[in-house]
Amino acid sequence: MTIKSNAPGRINLIGEHTDYNQGWVLPVAIDLSLSVNLTLRPGRICVATASGFPVSQTFSIDNLQPVQGKPLWIDYLKAVCWALEKNGFWLSGANILINSEIPIGAGLSSSAALELAFAGALNEALNLSIDPQRLALICQQAENEYVGVRCGIMDQFAIALGRADQALLLDCLSLSYTFIPFKLNHATLLIADSKVKRILGASDYNRRRTECEDAVELIGNYLGRKFLSLREISLEDIIKVKDYLPKLLYQRSRYVVEENARVLAAAVALKENDLVSFGYLLKRSHAGLRDLYDVSCPELDLIVDTVAADQEVFGARMTGAGFGGCAIILLQQAAVDRIKAGIDQAFTMHGWACPGYHLTTAAGGLTVESD
Ligand code: ADP
Ligand code: MG
Repeated sequence: MTIKSNAPGRINLIGEHTDYNQGWVLPVAIDLSLSVNLTLRPGRICVATASGFPVSQTFSIDNLQPVQGKPLWIDYLKAVCWALEKNGFWLSGANILINSEIPIGAGLSSSAALELAFAGALNEALNLSIDPQRLALICQQAENEYVGVRCGIMDQFAIALGRADQALLLDCLSLSYTFIPFKLNHATLLIADSKVKRILGASDYNRRRTECEDAVELIGNYLGRKFLSLREISLEDIIKVKDYLPKLLYQRSRYVVEENARVLAAAVALKENDLVSFGYLLKRSHAGLRDLYDVSCPELDLIVDTVAADQEVFGARMTGAGFGGCAIILLQQAAVDRIKAGIDQAFTMHGWACPGYHLTTAAGGLTVESD
């Protein structure tokens, strides 16, 4: 029996770096996906081939040890096996074939798509009966504890639960979620891939997490209260302690608290089909990520700046962890070619390679079938 699973990439409409601060996020699954074809094999050996990577890899599910240095692609599969077994599921070996349309390292979450597609295939092949939400949590644990990237829960949730024409409003504290209609009529969502690879991304990402934890502790000390995360802290509280906080921590915490408010406002705007307000929030989000959270880069800023004042653009922002990767632009369908040409011209003037583009819609999440 062959299992075929398909996991989409995702973009986050708004709510960046809020997931690990136990706030809100608003992602959609996109129409680029990664597929895994899996057959079980006797014993505890997995043999995996990924198109785009020259050499097949073999590993034993026994004695898996979390990655110390830079992860290799096969480590994501090992991580899933390790996390499933840590959660009490007994696995057997498998032959695995991976094909993908999701650009790697572009902030569209190819890593979580790989984890979910593989975990979903094992779930089906071995009748593990894990529901999508738990599967997402196990994959997050795999990436956090085995691969060594302290990602929040957004990517795995968006990919496991995504629905066509809907955005997922997820409360990362309670893990409760609702779907918000995301049908754009004459508007569309353009992904512009800056093609800047996040070389320092993982360490910077982990540093932002530590900065947020430090800010929570310091703010709590100054206010004489115990907070568990920035989610519990108001803008008023942050302004109260501004003079006591190191400037950097003030900026980081202010961004997160404001971004949380923007996510909730954005969900309301979408429900009311108010793309003008929604677009304004995208712009404010980008400004915060650039000026306060310091995770943008010149290429992403150029994309956003080039389209900022355009009459046919509702809004634009970097999406994903930052330090490179993609921007999203919400614009009128009729303006797509003109906007792309304008960005290309701006990049050419800087002597930079032009971005890659992809028009997307909100697509469905993980699917698994067997024959
Ligand atoms: P992102 O998730 O933003 O695409 P990451 O750096 O988090 O970027 O994850 C990318 C890593 O995931 C790759 O370096 C590779 O190890 C693994 N990966 C993603 N897609 C594939 C694929 N199609 N085949 C094999 N490995 C993949
Ligand atoms: Mg990733």
